Order: sequence, then C-alpha cells, then structure tokens
Amino acid sequence: MPEIETIDIAIIGGGPAGLTAALYASRARAKTVVFESGLPGGQIVTTDWVENYPGFPDGISGTDIAELMHRQAEKFGAEFRSFAAIEKIEPHDLDFLLTNAEDEQVIAHSVIIATGAVPKRLNVPGEAEFTGRGVSWCATCDGAFFRDKVVAVIGGGDAAVEEALFLTKFASRVHIVHRRDELRATKCIQEKCVANEKVQFELSRVVTEVVGEDGKVAGIRLASTKGEPEVLLPLQGVFIFVGVEPKADLVSDLCELDGAGYIKIDHNGLTSYPGLYAAGDVTDSELKQVITAAAKGASAAFEALRWIDERLCSI
Ligand code: NAP
Repeated sequence: MPEIETIDIAIIGGGPAGLTAALYASRARAKTVVFESGLPGGQIVTTDWVENYPGFPDGISGTDIAELMHRQAEKFGAEFRSFAAIEKIEPHDLDFLLTNAEDEQVIAHSVIIATGAVPKRLNVPGEAEFTGRGVSWCATCDGAFFRDKVVAVIGGGDAAVEEALFLTKFASRVHIVHRRDELRATKCIQEKCVANEKVQFELSRVVTEVVGEDGKVAGIRLASTKGEPEVLLPLQGVFIFVGVEPKADLVSDLCELDGAGYIKIDHNGLTSYPGLYAAGDVTDSELKQVITAAAKGASAAFEALRWIDERLCSI
C-alpha cells in the first residue's frame, strides 16, 4: 500500500481567511496545502468593489484582492490544490486524515477550516426554475446581461445594497426589495443608493413568487408586510442577497457548532477539537468582512503552528 502523504497544515477553503492562513503558515516554513473545491478566491470574487479594506484608499475589486492574496501565499511556498474538495476529515492519532472524492488521502498535523458560506435561498416558487434564466446570486458575474433592463435586488444588508449600486451601471432601473422599512446595510452605502436615481426602494415587501414567461423571468410578485395589496413588478432580472449559510458540514461531527450552524471558535481560532482551527465566514465571529476573515486566518495559522511545534517538541 503506498505511503500516505503527510503535511503540516491543511487549509480547507481558499477565500481571504484561507489565503491569509496559507501566507502565515508558509512563511513559517510549514508544509502548507490549500484545498479548494473550485478556484482560490472565495465569495469575495463575486464582489465588484471593496472599499473598506485598509491600504486601498480608492478601493480594489474583489477579484484583484483575492488574486493578490493568492499570489502572496504562493510566493512563500503554500501549495494550492484546486477542484480538490475534501469530503471527509477524520482524527488519525493526533493528526487528521483527509479524503477527497477520488478516495485520495492526506495526513495533516493540523487543519484550518476556512470553507466560508453560501448564499441563502428565498425558497419561493419560480426561484429554482428560473435560476440562470434571470435569477442570479452574483451581480458581478451576471450584471452585464441586464443592460437597459429592469432588475430587482432582494435583501437589505451590505451585499444587497452594494450589488444594487453595481447593477445601476447596467440596468435602467434597480428595485431594492426589503422585508422591513429600514435597511441593515452600512449607512454610507445606503446613502449612495438613495442618491442614485436608478434605484427604487420597495420596502416592507416580500417576494412570494418569481414569475416567468417564455422560460425567462418576467416579474416578481410582492406581498406587503403592512397590509398593502400584493403587486406584480414586471422585470427581467432578480438578484438575491438575503444572507449566507455556513459551510460547516465537513466538521459538524468533529467540533461544536452554534445554533445557526457556524463553527464555534475561541479568540485564537481553535475549535472544540484539539488541532482543528477555523477562520472566516464559517465561524461564529460576528463581523464578516475581508479584513476580519484575513485577521482570523492569521491567528488560526499562528495557533496551528504553535500546536504542531508543541506536539513535536514533546515527542
Ligand atoms: P446580511 O447582513 O445577513 O443581510 C441579509 C439581508 O437579507 C437582511 O437585510 C435580511 O433582512 C434579509 N433577509 C434575510 N432572509 C430573508 C428572507 N427570507 N426574505 C427576505 N429578506 C431576507 O447578509 P449579507 O448582506 O449577505 O452579508 C453577509 C455578511 O457579509 C454580513 O456580515 C455583511 O456585513 C458582510 N458583507 C460586508 C460587505 C462590506 O463590508 N463591504 C459587503 C458584503 C457583505 P433583515 O434586515 O430584516 O434581517
């Protein structure tokens, strides 16, 4: 039987948390491998413009920041295995045994989970049926298809409001549909939306159906939370940004999750399982930003390195 490859630190997920963990681990000369189910970058690559990452006073695109972080980690020796989703993580003495879909295995002294989060669904009729035919979860990817068309963005958080602004570059009108009469998004982004004449707010409204015609989105049905009559809004695109769900399934049997499914970590990124760390949007940390993901990735790597050193010194 061939010997199983052994590495120091396996990082699962290549978003800002995983990329920063990879930078710190590889600079410490640990054998570091980032396993990514797709390509490195994470959710940030679907964000048009990041204007709250320090050091970039004019902002930077989500794709560029991910690419720079990737290059920086690679420069110090981190190895990236793309389209290499890990499907199982099991304890293996004090190490971890990782298995992918092809039953290939790796032993890691420590693991950092940085799998991030996925967008939530609305779960209304027509949403699944018209996905890719007018319903989208990525304005950066699909916005250009809606030049001079009418679109709606669903949600009232940072993602919804930022992406609505981005969509005004293409669409003739952008409706922001939010279930309350007050947005959750950061005030300065809200102000930009209010000042943009292409944006129209549909507040205290919830989508009850995505309506289609000839196999494409033709409108959305909106109910009122304040007893107003239902309306049918004719449009061609629906962009859904109603929050995210953590991708923690891989370790749900190994470490503690909170009630919403986020991995519980201490202030250094340690989960409830020794040697297993987590960082970024998959964790129960409150602030979910590129900078907090990066900071938590650095802490997790630092602690994973210390855990490995202490173990090796005690052998
Ligand atoms: P979020 O902050 O959780 O906001 C989700 C929005 O969707 C809320 O307005 C929520 O309404 C609404 N919503 C939730 N479920 C809904 C449903 N079933 N039907 C209709 N509306 C629903 O999520 P997010 O905007 O995706 O952001 C996720 C995290 O990333 C946040 O921590 C955010 O701050 C961060 N982020 C930061 C930036 C930035 O700093 N530049 C950019 C993007 C995202 P309620 O308000 O009524 O709860």
